[in-house]
Amino acid sequence: MKHYSIAIDGPAGAGKSTVAKRIAKRLNFIYVDTGAMYRALALHFIRNNISSDERDKIEEACKYADITIEYVNGEQQVILNGENVSGLIRTEEVGNMASASSVYPPVRLKLVELQRALAAKADVVMDGRDIGTYVLPNADLKIYLTASSAERARRRHLELKERGIDADINEIEKDIIERDKRDMNREFAPLRKAEDAVLVDSSDMTIDEVTETIIDKFNAVK
Ligand code: C5P
Repeated sequence: MKHYSIAIDGPAGAGKSTVAKRIAKRLNFIYVDTGAMYRALALHFIRNNISSDERDKIEEACKYADITIEYVNGEQQVILNGENVSGLIRTEEVGNMASASSVYPPVRLKLVELQRALAAKADVVMDGRDIGTYVLPNADLKIYLTASSAERARRRHLELKERGIDADINEIEKDIIERDKRDMNREFAPLRKAEDAVLVDSSDMTIDEVTETIIDKFNAVK
């Protein structure tokens, strides 16, 4: 049976997960948040006192991390060695470790396998950095969702503020630029727009506008 897939890639804070969740709900697809998988592995490295420059230890630790995905009320849950860690992976520390450790091919290969298996058995909207270029090269629709770094920093700042965290917006922008650079310049499966991806710049668009644009594009290709 044919399963549809929509790949949404782009830099940090472009709104990928917000939009992907809405699209999944509308189309009755499963939302696969691949960043959460990199974050769960990152938590495993942190718990084992491994720093991001210890390549050998990271590669070894990958062997002892079992990552699986479950859905509870339509929300993705990430399970690390039997423990639901979904509530523990949204910190800056885990985000930084995920960004730094995701450059290593064994980290990526482990998760790519899981991502492809999910797409093989369901209709999915999958977001990440390498979905259209590497994980699902035959996706029915590929979107490269971006926005200016200033706008992405502004959104993240607001999001943190709503969670009661007061962060410096300039620091956030600096951090975003650094993460993008690392994602775009890694050797293995870097972040870039797939040739056949549709570029959507959300700098001056609302979430609803981005969602509708992508659903329209999907309806046109399906
Ligand atoms: O999207 P999110 O911020 O949760 O992802 C955490 C980190 O995982 C990113 O900074 C990125 O470096 C990495 N990542 C990746 N490939 C993906 C998804 C995330 O390298 N497909």
